[in-house]
Amino acid sequence: MKRRSFLGALGASATAAALGDDVLQAREPGPSAAKPMKITLLGTGTPAPSLERQGSGYLFEVADDLIVMDHGPGAHHRLLESGHRAVDVGHVFFTHLHYDHCMDYARLVLQRWDQGADRIPDLQVYGPPPLKRMTDLLFAEDGVYGPDIRARIEHRSSVDQFEARGGKAPRKRPAPRVREIKPGDVIEGNKWKVTVGRATHVQPFLECLALRLDGEDGSVCYTGDSGASDEIVALAKGCDMLIHMNHYFSGTAPSPAYRAACGNHRDNAETAKRAGVKTLVLTHLLGQIDQPRIREQIVHEIQQVFEGRVVWGEDLMQLTLAGPVIGKIEGY
Ligand SMILES: [Zn+2]
Repeated sequence: MKRRSFLGALGASATAAALGDDVLQAREPGPSAAKPMKITLLGTGTPAPSLERQGSGYLFEVADDLIVMDHGPGAHHRLLESGHRAVDVGHVFFTHLHYDHCMDYARLVLQRWDQGADRIPDLQVYGPPPLKRMTDLLFAEDGVYGPDIRARIEHRSSVDQFEARGGKAPRKRPAPRVREIKPGDVIEGNKWKVTVGRATHVQPFLECLALRLDGEDGSVCYTGDSGASDEIVALAKGCDMLIHMNHYFSGTAPSPAYRAACGNHRDNAETAKRAGVKTLVLTHLLGQIDQPRIREQIVHEIQQVFEGRVVWGEDLMQLTLAGPVIGKIEGY
């Protein structure tokens, strides 16, 4: 069994153990209920090199929209593996501009622009400053990809390709619609809204945000990278799901500053309990804790404090707010 699927099974069984009969009572919504939100973990890693855990990225299928939150190195590859393409994504949110959360931004924008061939609306982009400047530095005429973009707009062979994809020359430049956001902002979508909160991470060098997504069938809070704080608890209050950085094993932080900036399992247990969420998804996992026995110990210790479900996140894990349903035992 592949490691990923094994750990997916581990997450499911840990969840089942946590829920007991509650799992058995879970039911898919009826025909009149809202379309269930679907969450795919695209990247659950850290800046440390890993082939199993890519840089931070999360995909939310809510109502008729595909929303990406963070797009670190490798997250776009996982997006393709999840069965989606850049042109399917309408909105991207960034919690902060650490490279492990935004390095695949250019890939998303350029691939979407190239394949979209002026036939899809511009990508809507939200995140903290200096996101506009980063976007200009990447895609403006004198930006990093300026010569590439010019070649694709002007060279005959590229125009031929553009027209073969359904585009009508002259071709427009990529024009992501960037809105810089701050704590307290609310972005209203079609049957969803995102509320912006403050993360506790590496300020003042980078603005760091946490994001709460409310859909018709429930709520999920993705805290970006953050240590524990009252503001995170307030933002996540009553959510069905909290996706939280669980960077390292509690008690091994090299300094108070490290603990304040990075989530660990005992602090996360308290946060999940105080916020009253139903499910805690652990992500942004260092190799230090991503080992047999250690991960089970962490889940066990969290469950001494927090009574809800705990999920050990894996790349490409798919989740719903309602949680899994245990099916019948089937023979061969
Ligand atoms: Zn970070």
